[in-house]
Amino acid sequence: MTNLNAAPQVRSGAKRNLYELSREELDEFVSAFGEERYRAQQIWRWMYEEPVDRFDSMANLPGKLRAKLKASALLGSLEMVAKQRSRDGTEKRVYRLRDDQLVESVLMPYADDRKTACISSQAGCAMGCVFCATGQMGFARNLTAAEIFEQAMIFARELNARGERLSNVVFMGMGEPFHNYDASLAAVRQLMNRLKLGARHITISTVGMAPQIRRFADEGLQVRLAVSLHKTDDSQRSALMPVNGRWGIDELMDACRYYVTRTNRRVTFEWAAIAGENDSVDEAHRLGRLLSGLLCHINIIPLNPTRGYGGAPAKAERLKRFTAVLQDYGLNSTVRVRRGIDIDAGCGQLKAALTRAAENA
Ligand code: SAH
Ligand code: SF4
Repeated sequence: MTNLNAAPQVRSGAKRNLYELSREELDEFVSAFGEERYRAQQIWRWMYEEPVDRFDSMANLPGKLRAKLKASALLGSLEMVAKQRSRDGTEKRVYRLRDDQLVESVLMPYADDRKTACISSQAGCAMGCVFCATGQMGFARNLTAAEIFEQAMIFARELNARGERLSNVVFMGMGEPFHNYDASLAAVRQLMNRLKLGARHITISTVGMAPQIRRFADEGLQVRLAVSLHKTDDSQRSALMPVNGRWGIDELMDACRYYVTRTNRRVTFEWAAIAGENDSVDEAHRLGRLLSGLLCHINIIPLNPTRGYGGAPAKAERLKRFTAVLQDYGLNSTVRVRRGIDIDAGCGQLKAALTRAAENA
């Protein structure tokens, strides 16, 4: 069996990634150089408050200390290997991790000035949802908290340099955050404590791991929860999302009700709308009956076609009728525009495209 929490095999040297250190550990690291403690405070500021991407930009540090840092430390472990910008302003990156795994993250700017980073929690994914590019590539390993956090940190740094601010983070990139629960939650806390993001500006999206939804409800955080539902019938949902065989719809809905009762927060249900699969009026009635009375919102996202799955996105006309039915059950829903469609910005798609290109080269 793979040990999910095994430390990645590191490619280069023993340089310490400073983003892996707590404030106290940074103090110790700096003291070990024979430097005064206030230097750690200065470095911390350059990492999180006026973030820079190289030690040479840490203007108030003496040259000798900067040289020592360059020799023994790293400001992050993610190496950008591909970058694309979509016509709608969506920016997508692929990063190489220190053991050569690839992960993606995306930045979506919105008209109201929000800047939302969509980040990955695992390299690949073990959940095997048939419509998902990440699911189609299988599971490689869990990301560490620092690897998750750094994806958002890089966007925050770049935005800061242009006088803008990262406003939201969603765990909707590659991987299932609740299958890497501890690292994902540690990254959430870093986003809150180090990047000063409000909990309400962070969303975790899960395929529907019921026990972890309950555990998450007990954390006492105001972080938002999104649940990928996509189907109302157990056997049909299992065909699209094998995880449903482990935690069926009843168990999932019980966990969602527990979350709402415990937190007083609404759940967002994600609905990847697939033509002829889950966009009918009948399906809308079933969904209406399933969710009626629950504090929730439904996000409908037309399917992003992927290589490994033959389905097509549902048509806007059908979705109008679908949302009208939901309205009759007192359920609010939004049909989302698919972002970055011209740059493979769907979950796992750019990495899949890169891997194909490498294989064909
Ligand atoms: N593993 C988590 C989070 C990452 S996926 C989860 O499944 O919720 C983020 C969202 O993208 C999920 O709602 C997922 O169902 C959806 N998704 C995956 N592939 C998609 C595709 N090809 N088209 C539309 N949505 C997709
Ligand atoms: Fe994994 Fe989410 Fe993709 Fe399913 S949709 S395979 S859980 S990343």
